[in-house]
Formats: sequence, structure tokens, C-alpha cells
Amino acid sequence: MGETTETIFSKIIRREIPADIVYEDDLTLAFKDINPQAPVHILVIPKKPIPKLDDAESDDAALMGHLLLTVKHVAQQAGLKNGYRVVINTGDDGGQTVYHMHLHIMGGRHMKWPPG
Ligand code: AMP
Repeated sequence: MGETTETIFSKIIRREIPADIVYEDDLTLAFKDINPQAPVHILVIPKKPIPKLDDAESDDAALMGHLLLTVKHVAQQAGLKNGYRVVINTGDDGGQTVYHMHLHIMGGRHMKWPPG
């Protein structure tokens, strides 16, 4: 799937399509993945439409840090006391399908390594 600036996640940010939103602040939004791969599967996205991690720039350093701290907050809020996995699929080989950068939080079961 190719890159576009407008994605389904932009529509979720603008509330044009529904999502099960679990956290929001000025810079980020977190919502449940529509096709969960674990008992808890939440996506954390920047509101700024950065297509993929490779497109983040030095000006985005604070935002990138904030995204990780948001992951921590959302994971705690979801009750993932026993750990969880954070994944950023990047580009074709990374298995990225939605070109609006996002962090997957997966938990509630023991995660295997290496992933497929
Ligand atoms: P990735 O393959 O890393 O780009 O992940 C994209 C993720 O977005 C997949 O896990 C999808 O299940 C999820 N997804 C796609 N559309 C929606 C949607 N409308 N609401 C919630 N999650 C979605």
C-alpha cells in the first residue's frame, strides 16, 4: 500500500469515522485496534500526520518522546502490569499498512520472539 498524506487515521482524529478512543491530548490520540492481535491492542498516533518513522525529523524529537510516554501512560491505564510489547511497523518490509505513523501496544498475553 502506498503513502498518502490523508489516511483513515486522519479521519479518526477528526471524528469523521468512529473509533474506540482510550486517550487523547493535544499531540496524540490512542484508540483500540480494529483487528486486535492480543487481548489488549491499542494504537497510539501523533495528531501530526507523519507518514512513517522515517519521515520524523529533528524538530519532532519532543513529539517522539511524548509518544513513548503516552504509550507508557496508556499501557498503565489498560492495566498491563505484567508487561507489553510496543511495535512501530515501518515501510513495506516492516509490514506497515496505514501510512500515518503509529505505535502498537499489545498485551494481555505472553508475546513471542521473534515475531513473524
Ligand atoms: P500497520 O500494519 O502497522 O500499519 O498497522 C495498521 C493497524 O491499523 C492494523 O493493526 C489495523 O488493524 C489497524 N486499523 C486499520 N483501520 C483501523 C480503524 N479504522 N480503526 C482501528 N484500527 C484500525
